[in-house]
Amino acid sequence: MNYYALPIANLIEQFSKLPGIGRKTAQRLAFYILEMEPLEVEKLAASITDAKEKVHYCSQCCNLTDDDLCHICKDDRRDQSIICVVEGARDIIAMERTKEFNGLYHVLHGVISPMKNIGPDEIRIKELLNRVYNGQVEEVILAINPTVEGEATALYIAKLLKPLEIKTTRIAHGIPVGGDLEYFDEVTLSKAMENRREL
Ligand SMILES: [Zn+2]
Repeated sequence: MNYYALPIANLIEQFSKLPGIGRKTAQRLAFYILEMEPLEVEKLAASITDAKEKVHYCSQCCNLTDDDLCHICKDDRRDQSIICVVEGARDIIAMERTKEFNGLYHVLHGVISPMKNIGPDEIRIKELLNRVYNGQVEEVILAINPTVEGEATALYIAKLLKPLEIKTTRIAHGIPVGGDLEYFDEVTLSKAMENRREL
């Protein structure tokens, strides 16, 4: 039995699909929106469709951008010879906050996971290899999260890079196994970058 008018029920349903939003919060957000000024609601709705329409992967590093190249790839003050490989675009923001790294990034958009049927071709490994083949890359830092799947993915990439004789490093485990890069403080992340090791 539904207590809400159908449009309200739909709105609650859509909100509750979002990460970290339970039924109660979804209901609160839906009722909040119904109290908002129509113009504000329009702006909110437009910003969602606008972001979804305009944002895509950077043609070089697969970071999220509304341009061909992201702002990091476009910045010629950054060291082109070093690539830091991360799982997701949000990890770049975490890494940038440390102000320790001045190279370029590569976003895999996931890790290899046989359990979830994600093979090497489902994430952006090919694009990384192309960059290494074609560019002036001297070092690849594997800053993939230290989970079981993240470790396996790092080893897989390290093996592919081995014949190219490029320095391949892995961030140190100053951070707990099973963790998520995005949630660590700057000091922990800085240490992990500092103590990276060759694979
Ligand atoms: Zn980029």
